[in-house]
Amino acid sequence: LSSDALTDLRAGLVQEYEALKAQGLKLDMTRGKPASAQLDLSAEMLALPGNRDTTAEDGTDARNYGNLQGLAETRALFSTLMGAPADQIVVANNSSLALMHDTIVYALLKGVPGGKGPWSKEEPITFLCPVPGYDRHFALCEGYGIRMIAIPMTGAGPDMDAVEKAVADPSVKGIWCVPKYANPSGETYSAETVRRLASMKTGAPDFRIFWDNAYAVHHLSAERPELANILDACAEAGNPNRAFIFASTSKVTLAGAGLALWASSPENVRWYLAQAGRRSIGPDKLNQLRHVRFLRDDAGIAAHMEKHRELIAPKFTAVEEAFAARLGGQGVAQWSAPKGGYFITLDVQDGTASRVVALAKEAGIALTPAGATHPYGKDPNDRTLRIAPTFPSLADVRKAAEAVALCTLLAAVEARLG
Ligand code: PMP
Repeated sequence: LSSDALTDLRAGLVQEYEALKAQGLKLDMTRGKPASAQLDLSAEMLALPGNRDTTAEDGTDARNYGNLQGLAETRALFSTLMGAPADQIVVANNSSLALMHDTIVYALLKGVPGGKGPWSKEEPITFLCPVPGYDRHFALCEGYGIRMIAIPMTGAGPDMDAVEKAVADPSVKGIWCVPKYANPSGETYSAETVRRLASMKTGAPDFRIFWDNAYAVHHLSAERPELANILDACAEAGNPNRAFIFASTSKVTLAGAGLALWASSPENVRWYLAQAGRRSIGPDKLNQLRHVRFLRDDAGIAAHMEKHRELIAPKFTAVEEAFAARLGGQGVAQWSAPKGGYFITLDVQDGTASRVVALAKEAGIALTPAGATHPYGKDPNDRTLRIAPTFPSLADVRKAAEAVALCTLLAAVEARLG
């Protein structure tokens, strides 16, 4: 467009933007939280297991201390989801992020099998961080002084050429992976990516993959991309201890009162339980029984997730429709069309993501800060935004997406006019 045409365009967009502000919206698209209607899907679970049903399969009393690894029936329930046999699973309390935290702290203080001792004695150590990625992973590294190297995502997982090159450095101890319906790009790692992660040569003998499979069963469509089994791939490649697997039922049952899951090789499980045994006498096993009674089996989990899909898929569609209507063919933005998970990524014109967030904020729409998808909160291109459509109502999501599209256009025109 000529600069006159751009000036006219800006005037029109500013007018629309003023009208948007006048609506006095107050919408929150910052975090991937389930909506209340999704939490209601598990309402009946709260009455379980009931006060006469507290004996676990092994005859122990679930109300009492003990069973650090979790009930056998609960570990069996999540065996398919975790891609691990029940005896290689640990079921803990409500937050998988807490398990990631503890695993890192144990590694820093005590070291992991196959290593030379505490990671903290080898400082500085480094983690690879596929970007865009999950801000809380990056905050964990930052909080414990672990350096981060950004690795671009490709659509089939991280750029493996870049990963293979980076892991030759023995200070590189780990990589964050959200392998299925990644937060926030929505992509699923290809079988080839999984194979290369499992088999690559690493400078550190105690290198670990932090496999945060937070969205393992969180489908949004009938298309169900397969994720190769990382534990099997690591074992086949002769690196049986390489992967720590995490997941939770935060977005299956209750985000604040679900179960967190950890799985790995037999040797890593022994290591983990040795550390965790100092921290606690055992987890909340009534919640474990509650989940077993409520979800029952793989079919029960799938049926329950289908109810989530019915509630949230229309919200994702609303965002995609609003973006397509306003931004389609404009050459100023690209967005993901995830087949699962909790997020849509919106890549706006380079250098304008922070401006889009600021414009949206002024209009009453809270977005995740620009840069949050990158280590240290810094997106070098100021390009990537994470849209979290699950929590607001469908009507609000539509309004918010239309507003974000308007802010994206306005920021792009402003940038071109200089
Ligand atoms: N990992 C990822 C990739 C997530 O997106 C989230 C939630 N936003 C979590 C972990 C947090 O999981 P939890 O509730 O089990 O701590």
